[in-house]
Amino acid sequence: MTRPARAIIDLDALKQNYQLAASTAPTSKTMAIIKANAYGHGMVEIAKALHELTPAFGVATIDEAIQLRKAGIEKPILSLQGAFSEQEIKAAVKHFLWLTIENNKQVQELINCDIGTPLSIWLKVDTGMHRLGISPNEAIDVYKKLRSSSNVNNDIVVSTHFACADELNNNFTEQQIKALTELNTILNAPISFANSPGILGWENSHADWNRAGFMLYGNSPFKESHPIADRLTPVMTMLSSIISIKNIKKGDGVGYGHIWKAGRDSTIATVTVGYGDGYPRQAASGTPVYVNNQRASLVGRVSMDMLTIDITGLENIKIGDEVELWGKNISVNEVATYSNTSGYEVLTRRTTRIPNTYIESGN
Ligand SMILES: *Cc1c(COP(=O)(O)O)cnc(C)c1O
Repeated sequence: MTRPARAIIDLDALKQNYQLAASTAPTSKTMAIIKANAYGHGMVEIAKALHELTPAFGVATIDEAIQLRKAGIEKPILSLQGAFSEQEIKAAVKHFLWLTIENNKQVQELINCDIGTPLSIWLKVDTGMHRLGISPNEAIDVYKKLRSSSNVNNDIVVSTHFACADELNNNFTEQQIKALTELNTILNAPISFANSPGILGWENSHADWNRAGFMLYGNSPFKESHPIADRLTPVMTMLSSIISIKNIKKGDGVGYGHIWKAGRDSTIATVTVGYGDGYPRQAASGTPVYVNNQRASLVGRVSMDMLTIDITGLENIKIGDEVELWGKNISVNEVATYSNTSGYEVLTRRTTRIPNTYIESGN
């Protein structure tokens, strides 16, 4: 037997979520974004599970793309940050990758590089995120320059990325859509705007290509309830078990620093999972967990390898019982809210100490 802390990854839920993304934008192609180890779900396994469904994958870096090629993934793979050097451009050629071009250094390096075979390019335009991208007033010149280079395939996709699309009342998304749409009246290129909140919340942003990340893993990118996002199914269930139970007196403190003190005589259960596994140390007392079909609350500070929960008054709980930290009963977004972060971060920062187990739930 091994330590009970583990993550169950439901590949059928993943496929359903992909299909929801695709059917929400039926005239767009939906690229599966699997960067950062597929948001903690295991990049190669997720790529294999989605291989029949998605026309292409998106990752952050060339290194991630090469890892996928080495695992036998043959679909097109877009590197969302592009090449950091001439050497990476050559690696992109060798591994048949699609490259983002987002600054003038990348433009020059690509044009000057001796590669022999033209590459497929996504030209990224900065419509207001101000992180990556060519500014709209330079974009036409850059586009023409790339088009006339023998290192570039003709079908350049023009893309942009949203800054505030998860805020459904924030008009900035419409401004970004307008900026690229106007530019594209001149370029007439295939275009791409939408990430998960774009796909779910901004129909105007559905274009030739959409880029679905977070929603594939079954969680809503929105704070509010949302008719489509609420139909997503969480893919990851983070589980561990109770390894100790003790009764304490009203006023007793629990864990490091005694940051939580019992307001009544209490029963405390210790679970073998902690921040060394990627459970957020910032999680506040009151963060929900799920045990024996009931909610219970985290109390005290999360330790490296353990955390403590208040099971006072709950029925039939014993050492060995399974605890869901997040999954189908407790959403990762709820844990994130109690931890002052986003569900994206909670999923991504799990450590390799937690093994992923892949299942097909058949649901
Ligand atoms: C990560 C990323 C996405 C996916 O965003 P989600 O909100 O996770 O769907 C899409 N496009 C780019 C450029 C990204 O970096």
